[in-house]
Amino acid sequence: MTKSNNRAGWGVNTRLAHSGNDPHEYHGFVNPPVVHASTVLFPDSATMEGLNQKYRYGTHATPTTDALADAVNELEGSAGTIIVPSGLAAVTVPLLAFLGSGDHVLVVDSVYNPTRRFCDNMLRKLGVEVTYYDPLVGAGIDALIKPNTKVVFTESPGSNTMEIQDIPAIAEVSHKHGAVVMMDNTWATPLYFKPLDFGVDISIHAATKYPAGHSDVLMGLVSANEKHWRQLEDAKTNLGVCANPDDTYLVLRGLRTMGVRLAQHEKSALEIAREIEGREGVSGVLHPALPNFPGHEIWKRDFKGASGLFSIVLDGGPSRAVQRKKAHAFLDALQIFGLGYSWGGFESLAVHVWLEDRTIAEGPAMGPVIRLQIGLEDAADLLADIERGLEASKRVAG
Ligand SMILES: *Cc1c(COP(=O)(O)O)cnc(C)c1O
Repeated sequence: MTKSNNRAGWGVNTRLAHSGNDPHEYHGFVNPPVVHASTVLFPDSATMEGLNQKYRYGTHATPTTDALADAVNELEGSAGTIIVPSGLAAVTVPLLAFLGSGDHVLVVDSVYNPTRRFCDNMLRKLGVEVTYYDPLVGAGIDALIKPNTKVVFTESPGSNTMEIQDIPAIAEVSHKHGAVVMMDNTWATPLYFKPLDFGVDISIHAATKYPAGHSDVLMGLVSANEKHWRQLEDAKTNLGVCANPDDTYLVLRGLRTMGVRLAQHEKSALEIAREIEGREGVSGVLHPALPNFPGHEIWKRDFKGASGLFSIVLDGGPSRAVQRKKAHAFLDALQIFGLGYSWGGFESLAVHVWLEDRTIAEGPAMGPVIRLQIGLEDAADLLADIERGLEASKRVAG
C-alpha cells in the first residue's frame, strides 16, 4: 500500500479495514477487482518460456487471491497463505504436504470429526500411522513422539467439548523432535489467537465460519511460517486445488467487518453462557472464558478473546436414549436458533453433539451436549429461546 509507513503500530480493526489490496493500484476503487481467469497472456515467447511474470495461470494466483492472501498474512504474521475450496481442504492439504508413507502423525482426540475421518481413511490408506492424543497432554506429548513422527496436529478449543490445549508447550516439545506443528484455529480466528506467535508452524482456518460470516461461502485458509511455506505452496500446486474468485472476494469483504462481528458474538455468547450456568436443567456450560471451565487459565494466558461458539450440557443421566429424547425436545422447542451444521454466520444455530468418535477425550457423560452458535440477534431473544428449550427438555422424563 502507498501510505503504509507505520502499519506496524496499527490496531487489528484498522488492519482489517486496510489490508490486502491497495486501492490506488486499481484506479482508486476501494475494493479489488474480481478476476475470473484461467489463461493469462504473456507479451512474448521469451517471457512465456521463462514464466517470467507475476501472474501465469489462474490456478496459481490472481490479484483477487493475492489481496485476500496478503490480508491474511498480515493478520497471521505468516510468510504465505494458500486459499482452498473448504475448511476441510485447509486441513487435508497441509497434512498431505507434510506426511508420506511410513510417517506418524499425532492428532488431538477432540479434533473436528471430518479431520479424523480423513486421517482414518485417506492417511492410513497412504501408509501413515495415526495416533490420537489427549487434548490436555501438554508437554507430556513428549512420550508419544516416535522417531517417525512428522506432524503434531492440534485444535484448540477442541471441537464441541472445548478443551484448551497448551499450544506453546506442545510446540516446544514437537520442535525438539523435528515435527511440524499444525493448528486448526477456526474458533478463535487470528484476532483472538495468533498460532504462529505461539510456536505453531501451520495455521489452519475454515474461512467458511467467521471470515465469510454469512453462511453463504465455503473456503479454507492455510498460513505457514517462513520455514514451511514453500512445501505447503508446492502441495497446493501439485494437488491442483484453488479457490473460486467470487468466494475469495466475499471472504475479503467479510474480513472488513470480522472484528466488530466477533466482538458482538463474543459479548452475546458470554452473556448467555453466564446467564445459563447453574440453571435448573443445565448440568454444565463448556465455555473457555468461564472461570469454572477446566482450561480457563490457559485460555486466559494465550487468547485475546472468545468467539460465539460454546456448548451446554443438559441434565439427562447416562442413558443415551434419554439423552437423545431430551436433546431433541430442547432443539425442537427453539424458535430463533436454526438446527444446522457449520457456524460463524450472523444467525444462531444449535446442534446435538455426537461424541462417539472419541477414544480419550470422551466428553461429559451425564447429559446430552448441545453446541450453540450465538449469532448477531439480540441476546435477550436468544436467551428466551434457550429457556424455551430448557423447559421442553425438563418435561421429558428421565
Ligand atoms: C467447519 C470447520 C472445518 C471445515 O470447514 P468447511 O468449510 O465446512 O469444510 C474445519 N475445522 C473446524 C474446526 C471447523 O469448525
